[in-house]
Amino acid sequence: MAQRKPRAEMPKQTVEKRVHNFDEVALGFDEELALKEADRCLNCPKPQCIKGCPVEVSIPEFIKLVKEHKYEDAAKKIKEKNALPAVCGRVCPQEEQCQKFCVLGVRGDPVGIGRLERYASDWERLNTKLDTPKIEQTGGKVAVVGSGPSGLTVAADLAKLGHRVTVLESLHTSGGVLMYGIPQFRLPKEIVQAEVEYVRSLGVEFRLDSTVGLLATIQELMNGGYDAVFIGSGAGLPNFLRVPGENLKGIYSANEFLIRTNLMKAYKFPEYDTPIRVGKKVGVIGAGNVAMDSARCALRLGAERVYIIYRRSRDEMPARAEEVENAEEEGIEFMLLTNPIRFIGNDRGFLEKVECIKQRLSEPDESGRRRPEPIEGSNFTTEIDTAVIAIGQSPNPIIQQTTHGLETTRHGTIVVNEETMQTTLPGVYAGGDVVSGAATVISAMGAGKMAAKAIHDYIIAKKNNPT
Ligand code: FAD
Repeated sequence: MAQRKPRAEMPKQTVEKRVHNFDEVALGFDEELALKEADRCLNCPKPQCIKGCPVEVSIPEFIKLVKEHKYEDAAKKIKEKNALPAVCGRVCPQEEQCQKFCVLGVRGDPVGIGRLERYASDWERLNTKLDTPKIEQTGGKVAVVGSGPSGLTVAADLAKLGHRVTVLESLHTSGGVLMYGIPQFRLPKEIVQAEVEYVRSLGVEFRLDSTVGLLATIQELMNGGYDAVFIGSGAGLPNFLRVPGENLKGIYSANEFLIRTNLMKAYKFPEYDTPIRVGKKVGVIGAGNVAMDSARCALRLGAERVYIIYRRSRDEMPARAEEVENAEEEGIEFMLLTNPIRFIGNDRGFLEKVECIKQRLSEPDESGRRRPEPIEGSNFTTEIDTAVIAIGQSPNPIIQQTTHGLETTRHGTIVVNEETMQTTLPGVYAGGDVVSGAATVISAMGAGKMAAKAIHDYIIAKKNNPT
């Protein structure tokens, strides 16, 4: 029968302290906590947890190594499958993935797999040096567009298989959303950069400030000597509510708000000369990770009251459970079953209020979530001077518009063969948010893994049968 020792809790900064800084909230296990948690793993003969991991990390094996105090080996075991373990240990929605299948979860708390993954990878980063492995080269050349989790995974896997990989990234830094979206207090940027360095240590070349579709098209890359191209350009185009008043001053897309706060370092003003204006009462529309991050940034930037305004109920909120809990602890207020229908400004064009209508839930829609319906006559207004729209993102269309023959859906995502991630063009593969629409780090990495395998097979077949 499954043992029922309680799960080791994650030490965190106190609420009083953390709402005034951008330092990491979750402090990570020390050795004692890591060993205590690892000890809860039953090392099941037929582990179910691996089924829940899109990149199939050998979970019981790495936890066994932690139990044996072999932390570096544990990190290496994870890295056999996952190039970004310190990132995944921090931001993966484990409760919906590996931990959901943990047998201990039937009667109590599942093993804190993500927390152990974080412990092992942090231990390795802090206590060892990156070594440059010797890899036999195949002569294959691959261009990877975008350096988010999907691009980094493809790049790492193909480099390990002996191909020369060049990552083309439009921003001045690598890491995709991990760098420009997720705030420092959830995912410190030095952690992301350490994992990028690991990918670089495998021989991957990074070319920054290089926007594919503007500098060179996919076709030009294919004609320019690359055997294959992977498109991992993400979903960086914000969606809007399309309600009256959405252009008032004081209303941001979550993309703009988070990029200015994190990547442009508004949170370090005046050290960085790039401030952002945040008022006293902030309404964040949406309830995913992006919304929670925006709300918690607004609080740290000095807002007195921050509301999450969401048209469904708590059960349907897409954000990671842990982050909803953190947001609540910090005093973020949740206005659920509430839909904004109009923003109201003053005569100078600045936002003053939002008009909302209460919702009730009816039958599930195509997403499986219960559909919200307005309750007639339930309109009310709330005073806010800043709004952040966090209701989802779509792919940026540059590549789709400049690549003849690349089939896309009506949502602007790229159509692929789901087993190989090949697009409608030979030698051109795609994965991550640009295919699935905005999703998760680990699903983007899972897609990258599949693509890397298919690209490898494609290049080897091409080299064996040159036409
Ligand atoms: P991205 O990470 O978007 O990377 C794409 C990269 O491609 C970017 O660097 C972009 O600059 C570059 N690019 C785009 N177009 C071009 C071009 N034409 N040429 C060259 N480069 C280009 N997921 C979780 O699992 N857990 C979380 O807690 C979580 N929190 C999130 C919080 C926020 C604020 C956001 C925005 C997302 C969050 N997600 C989270 C989702 C997750 O980050 C994404 O699903 C994931 O990053 C997608 O990876 P990707 O590789 O497809 O794309």
